[in-house]
Amino acid sequence: MALEALAPCTQNLIDGALVDAGNGNTFDNVSPSTEEVLGHAPDGTKDDMLNAVAAARRAFDETDWSENHDFRSKCLRQLYEGMIEEKEQLRSIVVHEAGAPVSLTGFMHVDNPIEMVTYWADLAASYPYETRMKDVDFMDTPQGRILRREAMGVVGAITPWNVPLYLNIAKIAPSLASGCTVVLKPAPDTPWSATHIAKIIAEKTDMPPGVVNIVASADHLTGEILSTDPRVDLVSFTGSTATGRRIAECAAPTLKKIFLELGGKSANIILDDAVLEAVVPMGAMTCVHGGQGCAITTRMLVPRARHDEAVELLKAAFSGWGYGDPTNPANMQGPQISKRQQERVLAYIEKGKEEGADCVVGGGRPAQLEKGFFVEPTLFANVDPQATIAQEEIFGPVLCVIPYEDDDDAVRIANDNEYGLSGAVSSASVDRALDVARCIRTGTLSVNGSQWFHPDTPFGGYKQSGIGRENGVMGFEEHLETKVIAVPADYRG
Ligand code: NAD
Repeated sequence: MALEALAPCTQNLIDGALVDAGNGNTFDNVSPSTEEVLGHAPDGTKDDMLNAVAAARRAFDETDWSENHDFRSKCLRQLYEGMIEEKEQLRSIVVHEAGAPVSLTGFMHVDNPIEMVTYWADLAASYPYETRMKDVDFMDTPQGRILRREAMGVVGAITPWNVPLYLNIAKIAPSLASGCTVVLKPAPDTPWSATHIAKIIAEKTDMPPGVVNIVASADHLTGEILSTDPRVDLVSFTGSTATGRRIAECAAPTLKKIFLELGGKSANIILDDAVLEAVVPMGAMTCVHGGQGCAITTRMLVPRARHDEAVELLKAAFSGWGYGDPTNPANMQGPQISKRQQERVLAYIEKGKEEGADCVVGGGRPAQLEKGFFVEPTLFANVDPQATIAQEEIFGPVLCVIPYEDDDDAVRIANDNEYGLSGAVSSASVDRALDVARCIRTGTLSVNGSQWFHPDTPFGGYKQSGIGRENGVMGFEEHLETKVIAVPADYRG
């Protein structure tokens, strides 16, 4: 199926209006697969961001958005319908601007994320915002208590470029469902995955002005206003751990809540009774979308006695792995997002070689692809668990195979990392795999290839992979304050 011709919205959404940047400036949106300029995006200014924050504050303080649960649910349904109507345009946008392989748009980038909006629409209407707690005695008098959950206020949402449409939805939809208003600052590499949502909201929903504001900008620091401004109540951030730390620093003076979804270096543990032919070749999936996924298992831990056997299987899988043009449905790996990211990944690969790991497949820029920020699918064997490539997030198509001695050693290696986002365990025995999974300090795990990803699954990290959980009721409740109101015990309102 041919992709729809690009016709993205190239304006920001501030206080209900689609607008150019305040100073009229734009920046180029560059295709990572062809290096051509696809078009332009509004280069939102700091004043634009301040206006967006003011609009979100007004919409929260002066409308009944936070209390009108059914209306919010209806508006989210309108957003869903609007996104369905624009689905092929959104698909074209993510393939072109993010280099997302079209083969992955169903599950990862477009169709599935759009369906998730219905989860939030339902939850907005069905969540029990007020419940009665059990009565208690105070000085021999019974006391009633109402436990009330209410929207936190203005959410400052900041997203990265790797799965841009999904992550923008994952920020906007629960914020709105919970009754918050929101200012979204998308990544400069993928502005249209946000500005096109702006158009859908402006033209196809009844959301009051200021409820959603979307400010694309070439300047990363435009987003810093969201962590410093006292009118913002919650910063909901997905991105690198380094930026997460900066956001925590900037948010500290106003003690606003921060909710951080950060990097990962997840381990895929192959236990010694696993059927290697069945599970090891799947390691090539590390290269999906150029390895630009936070939860990808980029360290494969294999029993030392079976290391070489596993590497042979991986070599075959990596060598037969299709990559290149993201518009070709045969490819599951496209380019890295930018020249900068391509160079960063290649530098990690050089570091891996210098530190003594065996680079057995790939290891460079593919000669056959003249244009685009591509990196070869790269397999490192015999990697020291302390090596830089085994410890740091590369965010590229690079798998490290690490030998271990026994189950305890595998658990130790898996946990010996600053990240704790996800992981996988394979074994002939689900019980044994579960025992190992229980010892891994990460937010999600897969046993024998089972899939945890769903809108009702709380997703997030231990350690420096983040604070809080996205998705599910837990993710919804990240956006709520808690209030307890004591009432006479005989009150039955
Ligand atoms: P990044 O941290 O460089 O940028 C993310 C966003 O933060 C961008 O919109 C950027 O403009 C903005 N930003 C940068 N500096 C800022 C500042 N000082 N104040 C406010 N905003 C600022 O991350 P990236 O390179 O765009 O994305 C890749 C990272 O995202 C990887 O580490 C990946 O693991 C992580 N990620 C995590 C998840 C998750 O759910 N845990 C999901 C996707 C990506």
